[in-house]
Amino acid sequence: MKKSEVLQAWGRILAGRAPSLSIEITKECPLRCPGCYAFDAAHLGGGVGLRELSDFRGEALVNGVLRLIDENRPVHVSLVGGDPLVRYRELEQLLPEMEKRSVHTQVVTSAFREIPSAWKGIKRLNVVVSVDGLQPEHDARRKPATYERILKNIARARVTIHCTITAQIASRPQYLEKFLEFWTAQPQVAKVWFSLFTPQRDAADAEILTEAERATVITELNRLRIMFPKLEMPEKLVKELMRPPASPADCIFARTTEIISADLETRITPCQFGGEPDCSRCGCVASMALAAVGHHRVAGPLTAGHLFRASEHLGKAWRRMVGRTGQGRSRRGPVPLFPIVGQREPDGRKV
Ligand code: SF4
Ligand code: SF4
Repeated sequence: MKKSEVLQAWGRILAGRAPSLSIEITKECPLRCPGCYAFDAAHLGGGVGLRELSDFRGEALVNGVLRLIDENRPVHVSLVGGDPLVRYRELEQLLPEMEKRSVHTQVVTSAFREIPSAWKGIKRLNVVVSVDGLQPEHDARRKPATYERILKNIARARVTIHCTITAQIASRPQYLEKFLEFWTAQPQVAKVWFSLFTPQRDAADAEILTEAERATVITELNRLRIMFPKLEMPEKLVKELMRPPASPADCIFARTTEIISADLETRITPCQFGGEPDCSRCGCVASMALAAVGHHRVAGPLTAGHLFRASEHLGKAWRRMVGRTGQGRSRRGPVPLFPIVGQREPDGRKV
């Protein structure tokens, strides 16, 4: 994370707002991956499932997503699903608009459809392609987004590969090394990230790693991060996998990310997994990255996590005060206490 992004995010926290937004822009997906959390019955809290929600398309979707961004003014937005490429026409309109607003955008996809080469020109865009292991395992789990199809669809793009390590992967020696040999050799691949499969509490999915498998994977990641520069997992991040946040209340990622489902209204809590995720077995790369930032020492025993909690407290107090008095409100909501450095207004003006 760059210093300027940290400052922007801090400004949002002090304004009592989440600096990150994750939006499920569609409930549709052509895949049926085992262990998918988006279509898990618990994802939206156990009432309706993602497939039962109403979702949007066309202008209604574009305007709805931009409205959320203009209201919340996040620093970072993840567009997820379902598979967001189901709505690729809408993405073609949305992504340049988000760039105009200086938003760092991430599109997370299976690459079942071609990623346009023009997207390489969008400076703040990161396209993340999910790959579930080496070809035989991946193709069995993620048809029709097979290896052959992904390679064809990313041929003119620039992407990050993200692989969720499951028990099936963790139990095989040299598996991660072979995976990295293959994907880091692809010129279109800028970086590779790994997460570990995160279950719901009391779940018994075949994907769940045992404690021994988790420990072996962590050791292996520390070896591989030196061998493969494209594996973007610093030592401090990998270390966090040994002691994940104790609960959503301790998870900086969960506390700084607002997650909105396909009806553009329903909030998913406590984090992107929804339901009751088992934090003690969390392996989410984003959560671990922010935990590493939180443990960073700023001065003496003072960590960035201490500053975050104090800032969050201040921001929430500010929001409560504004809510009571109505002072400081603009048409889009409360005016932040601190400027959001470098961010742009919807009309393109720089703040
Ligand atoms: S591609 Fe993603 S959203 Fe679709 S089924 Fe697979 S894991 Fe779920
Ligand atoms: S991201 Fe992981 S640690 Fe954070 S709330 Fe979700 S499951 Fe818990």
